[in-house]
Amino acid sequence: LLAKYKYYIRNVLFFLRQGKNSHPVLDNFRVEKTTLSPDLKEDEVLVKTLFLSVDPYMRCRMNDDTAADYLLPWRLGECADGGGVGVVEASRNEVLATGDIVTSFNWHWQTRNVINGYLLRKIDPRMVDGHLSYVLGAVGMPGLTAFLGVREKGHVTPGANQTMVISGAAGACGSLAGQIARLDGCEKVIGICGTDKKCQALVSELGFTAAVNYKKGDISAALRESCPRGVDVYFDNVGGPISDTVISQMNSGGHVILCGQISQYNKDVPYPPPLSKETQEDLCSKNITRERFMVLNYMDKHEEGLLQLSQWVKTGQIKVLETVTNGIENMGVAFCSMMMGGNTGKQIVKISD
Ligand code: NDP
Repeated sequence: LLAKYKYYIRNVLFFLRQGKNSHPVLDNFRVEKTTLSPDLKEDEVLVKTLFLSVDPYMRCRMNDDTAADYLLPWRLGECADGGGVGVVEASRNEVLATGDIVTSFNWHWQTRNVINGYLLRKIDPRMVDGHLSYVLGAVGMPGLTAFLGVREKGHVTPGANQTMVISGAAGACGSLAGQIARLDGCEKVIGICGTDKKCQALVSELGFTAAVNYKKGDISAALRESCPRGVDVYFDNVGGPISDTVISQMNSGGHVILCGQISQYNKDVPYPPPLSKETQEDLCSKNITRERFMVLNYMDKHEEGLLQLSQWVKTGQIKVLETVTNGIENMGVAFCSMMMGGNTGKQIVKISD
């Protein structure tokens, strides 16, 4: 019956690959109008897209070679894809029914999609207190990244009077990592981010001990003032000179959680990018661990992690910040803005009600 329907849909194509050494621009993407005739095959479902995610890893997918074996490059002229949440409108899959809320890491940037049900995970909306966009943030991949990053690589010990510094602190992962470190028993949590307004949100809304705007003044002096006993744990989202400064103030036996290096993503360098000789020497002489962290390496811990995150969010122990942009036509705008620091908390794009 559905095959007789024709939906007018919009999608976003990856349109221009301009190379590794450049900022993403709106011309990388093109919005198109097209039609979808959902002649569902066995196991397929028709979904309406509710929310889409834009994430830093997508910058790697814009290159010919993503430099990561778990990431495929976006193909030129094809629909871009990433994290998405939507509602099932028709199903030929045994376990998914009309009205179910579902998510996938490979959601096409399209207002409606036909997807094989096996690529979808069913969501209980109670897990996110009805805030379905949280599936892409606090109770999703960024939440797990913050939670497992802190738990697996942070060595946070309650009562040990530790100071943790987080770079990219006002973003999706950073804003959660600081709150989780606090819940796990870190004495002081200091955020580094790019505007005074973000610094204020970290301290007054999320309970960070202090925050430093890296675009203003002397970060080194500001950090020394906020961390008089030195830095024990560093949750690194950005890399580059900010991380060199933090590492130079770390205590012996400290731990770097190597989560991401966004300050280097618009450059043609390997991942993780090479460290300066001084920083390497700092790590070595102070016996600081700096192990690469990858959320996808802990699949067996995801379910339990999501339950914990859901509970913290529902009880208000974790506050969730989001920046919501409206409309599929603004996917490129939201992505470029996030890469330049336009977001506070998770950058979400709302596609439909
Ligand atoms: P965010 O929500 O933090 O958004 C990116 C932020 O990065 C911007 O808001 C901006 O904030 C900051 N930024 C951009 N350019 C620079 C720069 N040159 N120097 C310093 N800060 C910059 O994104 P996510 O929370 O999704 O991701 C954060 C990091 O975590 C990324 O590096 C990402 O690759 C990584 N990640 C790693 C995972 C893993 O498994 N290891 C999984 C998921 C994410 P500001 O205003 O402060 O500049």
